[in-house]
Amino acid sequence: MAEYKEGETMEKIKENRLAYCNECEDLVEFHVLEEMISEEYKGEKITYRFKVGHCECCGVEVATDIDYNSRKSEAKIKAYKRQKGIISLDEISELLKKYDVGKETLADIAGFGKVTIKRYYDGIIPAKEYSEVLYQMLNDETFFMESVKKNQSKLKDVAYRKIIARYERLCEIGKSKLEQIINYIITNLGEVTPLALEKLLAFSNGVNYAMNGKQLIREECQAWQHGPVYPKVYNQYKKFGYKPIDTGIYSSHGCMQSLLSEDEIKAIELVLHTFGLYSSKTLERISHSQQPWLEKRVGYKEDEPGNEIIDEKSVERFYIENGLNSEESIMRYIANCIRNFE
Ligand SMILES: [Zn+2]
Repeated sequence: MAEYKEGETMEKIKENRLAYCNECEDLVEFHVLEEMISEEYKGEKITYRFKVGHCECCGVEVATDIDYNSRKSEAKIKAYKRQKGIISLDEISELLKKYDVGKETLADIAGFGKVTIKRYYDGIIPAKEYSEVLYQMLNDETFFMESVKKNQSKLKDVAYRKIIARYERLCEIGKSKLEQIINYIITNLGEVTPLALEKLLAFSNGVNYAMNGKQLIREECQAWQHGPVYPKVYNQYKKFGYKPIDTGIYSSHGCMQSLLSEDEIKAIELVLHTFGLYSSKTLERISHSQQPWLEKRVGYKEDEPGNEIIDEKSVERFYIENGLNSEESIMRYIANCIRNFE
C-alpha cells in the first residue's frame, strides 16, 4: 500500500494491524468477525465458531497473525471430536492430572501402544474405541485402578506407588462433600489462596441458604480474627501460606463432584462469579461486615485470636434477609460493602 511510509508499515504488521491479502496481493488493513464456519472434514460436515479476518479492501479472508491457520485447524479438529463424541485434548490433560501420570504411563495403563497418547498431542485423532476407554477412566476411578492392576507389570515401582497415593487421595475426596466443594472452587477459579478459600467456602454456605434453603457445609465454622474459618480446612492448606493452593488434581469428573447436587453447584458457581472476582483482602473485609461473624467477635480486640463457633441460624437469616441469591443482588451487595470501607 503506497500510502504507508515504510516505518509505519512495519509497525502496523508488528501490532497486528496489517495482513497479506491474496486477492489484493498486498498488505491490507483488516477487520475480524466471529462467524460460524461449516465445512467438510474427514467426510463429516462440521460447524464451528471462529474469529475470521477479512480484508478491508475486498472482504476475502486473511490470516490476521502468524498463528491464525493453526488456530483455525485446532478449532476445526475440536469441533470434529465434539461432534463424534471423541475425547478432547483438554480432557486427556485432565486425565493425566487427575491420576498424576505421564503420557506413556497412561498409554501403558490403557493397554495402548507406548506413544499413542503422545501422538494425540501431535494432532492424531483418537479412534472411537480408544476414546471410550479414556472417557471411562476419566469418569470411573475403579475402572482406572482395575486397568492399573491389569498392566502393573509394565509400570515402574515409583510410578505405581505414585498412582496408589493419588488414588487414595481421590477416594478421600469421593467420600467428603467439603473436599469436593474445595476441589470445585480450586479447579474452576484457578488461583485460590488459603485465605480466599475460607471466605469462598463461608460465602458458598451462606448463598446456598439464600438459593436452596439448606446448609451446604456441615463442618463447624469459627469466627477467627481474619474472618470465618473452617479449622479443618485451615489445617489442611495452611502450608501454602499466601500462595495459591495447588492440589495438582484439577478434575471435575468421576468422584470429584459425586456428593454435590446440581442446585448446590449452582450456588457455588454463583459465588465464584461474584465474590470470586475479588481479592482475598476484600473478601476478608466483606466478611468482617457480616452479622454472623461480628456477633461472635463481641468483646474481642481487632487483632485478638478467637474461635467462637458461628451460628448457622444467624448465617441463614443474614443471607436470606439480604437476598443474596442472584448475580445482580450479590454484585450490588459487594459494591455496597466496598463503598462502606471508604
Ligand atoms: Zn483484499
